[in-house]
Amino acid sequence: MFYLGSGGLPTVTKGNTFQGLRDLKELGLSAMELEFVRSVYLKEDKAKEVGKLARELGIKLSIHASYYVNLCNPQKAKASQKRILDACKIGHYAGAKYIVFHPGFYGKLDEEKAYSLVKKSCEEMSSKIDQYKWDVVLGPETTGKKSQFGTLDENLRLSKEVKNCAPVIDFAHIFARNVGQINFAEVLDKMRDFEEMHTHFSGIDYSEKGEKKHLELSSKQPDFKELAKELIKKKFNKNRDITIISETPVLEQDSLKMKKILEETKNKNYGSY
Ligand SMILES: [Zn+2]
Repeated sequence: MFYLGSGGLPTVTKGNTFQGLRDLKELGLSAMELEFVRSVYLKEDKAKEVGKLARELGIKLSIHASYYVNLCNPQKAKASQKRILDACKIGHYAGAKYIVFHPGFYGKLDEEKAYSLVKKSCEEMSSKIDQYKWDVVLGPETTGKKSQFGTLDENLRLSKEVKNCAPVIDFAHIFARNVGQINFAEVLDKMRDFEEMHTHFSGIDYSEKGEKKHLELSSKQPDFKELAKELIKKKFNKNRDITIISETPVLEQDSLKMKKILEETKNKNYGSY
C-alpha cells in the first residue's frame, strides 16, 4: 500500500498540525512527516492528540529529527543522541514509527571509523528505545552530500547490525550524491527484505560534491516516472507499506502529482496493485 504526503505542513495550511492533517485528508493524501528539524515542537499530550487525529483520518505519521546531529563526532554524539531520542519519545506518543535523521559528517575520519562511531551511537539509542518500550524505528536517511555519512550501503549495514533501525531512502539525495545518477531497480532490490519502506522524493540541484538544493518535481531529476515504473513492475507495494514524503518546495502539490503518476503507471503498463 502506498502512503503519500508532505514533509511538514502542506503549503495550503493556515494553522497548526491538526489543520495540516485535515488539509492532507481533504486533498486525498495519507502521510505527513512532522518536522522536528529545529525543535521538538509538540509536548507529550499534544503528540497524543495529533496521533489520535492522524489515526482517525488514516494518515501515517513519521518524524524528521533535528538537523543538529553528528554521530561521527565523539564530542557531539551524546547531545546528538539526545535530540534524536527526544524525537523518538514524542514519535512514540504520536504513533509515528520512523524517526528520520542524517547521521553525521565524516570530517577527517575514514569511512570505517565513521561507521563504527555511528553504529555505537545507534546501539546506545536502540537500547534506550527498548528500555522505554517506545514503538519507533531509527531511520538513518541516505544523505545528499559526499561529506555526509549515509550511503545506502552504510545505512543498510547499520540496519542489519543494530536493532530497531531501518534505512530511510531519499531518492533525490542518492541521485545528487552520485552526481546525477540513480538506479531505482538496484535500490529497490536492496530494500526487498524490508516489509516497510519509508522514503523521501523531490527534484534536486547538485554539483560534483552532491546536493545543492531541492527542486520541484517538474525538474525531472531524478524522474519520478522511472521510480513509479520500477515500484509497480516489481509489485513492491504488495504486502508492503511504502511511504513517499514529498520534500519539494510545493510539497502537497507534487505529492498529488506523484500519486497521479503511480495511478497512471499502474493502469498503463503493469497490471494491478
Ligand atoms: Zn532529511
